[in-house]
Amino acid sequence: MTARQPTKTTCPYCGVGCGILADVSLDGKVGIRGDTNHPANFGRLCSKGSALGETVDLDDRLLYPEVDGQRVSWDAALRLVGSQFSETIAEYGPDSVAFYVSGQLLTEDYYVANKLMKGFIGSANIDTNSRLCMASSVAGHKRAFGSDTVPGCYEDLEIADLIVLVGSNLAWCHPVLYQRIVAAKGKRPEMKIVLIDPRRTMTSDIVDLHLPIKPDGDVALFSALLSHLFETHAIDQDFIAAHTSGFTDALRAADAMDILAIIEQTGLDQRLLRSFFELFARTDRTVTVFSQGVNQSARGTDKVNAIINCHLATGRIGKPGASPFSVTGQPNAMGGREVGGMSNTLAAHMDIENAEDRDRVRRFWQAPLVAAKSGLKAVDMFRAVADGRIKALWIMATNPVVSMPDAGKIEDAIRNCPFVVVSDVIAKTDTVRHARVRLPAAAWGEKSGTVTNSERRISRQRSFLPLPGEARPDWWIVCEVAKHMGFGAAFDYKSTSEIFAEHAALSGFENNGTRDFDIGQFANISETEFDRLEPFQWPRHVGEESSIRLFTDGKFFTRDGKARFTSLDLEPRRTTPAAYPMTL
Ligand code: SF4
Repeated sequence: MTARQPTKTTCPYCGVGCGILADVSLDGKVGIRGDTNHPANFGRLCSKGSALGETVDLDDRLLYPEVDGQRVSWDAALRLVGSQFSETIAEYGPDSVAFYVSGQLLTEDYYVANKLMKGFIGSANIDTNSRLCMASSVAGHKRAFGSDTVPGCYEDLEIADLIVLVGSNLAWCHPVLYQRIVAAKGKRPEMKIVLIDPRRTMTSDIVDLHLPIKPDGDVALFSALLSHLFETHAIDQDFIAAHTSGFTDALRAADAMDILAIIEQTGLDQRLLRSFFELFARTDRTVTVFSQGVNQSARGTDKVNAIINCHLATGRIGKPGASPFSVTGQPNAMGGREVGGMSNTLAAHMDIENAEDRDRVRRFWQAPLVAAKSGLKAVDMFRAVADGRIKALWIMATNPVVSMPDAGKIEDAIRNCPFVVVSDVIAKTDTVRHARVRLPAAAWGEKSGTVTNSERRISRQRSFLPLPGEARPDWWIVCEVAKHMGFGAAFDYKSTSEIFAEHAALSGFENNGTRDFDIGQFANISETEFDRLEPFQWPRHVGEESSIRLFTDGKFFTRDGKARFTSLDLEPRRTTPAAYPMTL
């Protein structure tokens, strides 16, 4: 028996961002269905999303604020956090504190955490677990396009004639995208799929060609492809001349390898290389999908640019069924990027190293100061905790003792940090147990706000369960701490719709088409409109129709409006130290 209308919300597990209908029955059971109207999944769900109803019980939940293992009132906990952070900053400066946040946060949570650290504390020491999976794509996009832009959309996966999957096990990691591709190939069996992965994963079940590349052979492979495209006249000379710069240098760098070097670096034989190169060269509608096998690498950014180089050389960008396509792991890695949730970015895709951007954000926020330089990235942040430079650390919605590399050192660092706050849903994680202050956060079914999926689609997460115990949404916790630190006027939000409206307004502030991320159409969104907000893709400039793809006009966000080829170093590199010569 269903008690009320289903709630339209979004799956919190991966970057596909599937729409969900959640039904709460009178006995409190939660039924989960795919939302047939959501453009990410059109009703499909994978086994993870389908099982969400089994995750909403209160077992293991952190339900009350705690200090030193004792339950305390919210006021006491917030006062302590505010005063400890303020005193640490007063004594040691803004860079003595840090936030480590998460792609599990909603965009509005992320926005206020970033605003507090970068605009009001005056440090950029906020970084996110998304750093570990997405930073290479962000850097690669910015190097090529002048902006962190994913140009394509999911529809491209269905209308492409060739899909190249690089370092991506979609069948497990983005199952609904995999299902969409399987369905498209069922309708058009002539569609070709290539998998480039050292392992023969479950995704290989649907592919026409598997290239079992050596780990880290991707830069060599796509550089050799660039040379092949030039030699076989498969490049788009007009597009290169009108819309790009740096092609000659990139090609010269790519030409540095002979066939023996290519075989050595990629581990692929000539027959496989030829099959892939010829297929890529003759197929205009090509989408190259890449994810963690590309991003999580010592040369992740170069891999991203090696792929983008081939798309720029063939003009396969901004066109239906033709795009490089980075797919995100976490549900809101993209939302985090939009609000500048990394230590080297600024809100609304602005640049922390750019004085004009800093000044613009400072004026918009009416902030006393905006951090003047990049902060510590995730690994460096925990090194700074370990060596005592960071004296107060707030971890939100993530468990770095388990998820960071070199976990033992991370645990030691957190254990020895003078003041650690963790806001989380779960009472006993490996990280929570080292926190002096534990703040109970709202979980998926209790939260309200927005997330952005891999195709730039912003969707609502809507709460359908009451807040249990004294759990509170992350945005509320951050804003209350900000008030205790003396920044009340800038953090006086009543709901996530007000935060979303401010985020939208900042994205459109003095933009005039100069920045890719612009959802200025929503700057005056009301609470009711926010409640009803349907999934949409950015950008949404004021007064303009939206487009589901970017760069359709061949204009990029660099100074000269041209995309940049990247010249890549092809000297073989040892990415594992001699003492540990193993790649997993
Ligand atoms: Fe959730 Fe991802 Fe599965 Fe969709 S594909 S239901 S977003 S885990």
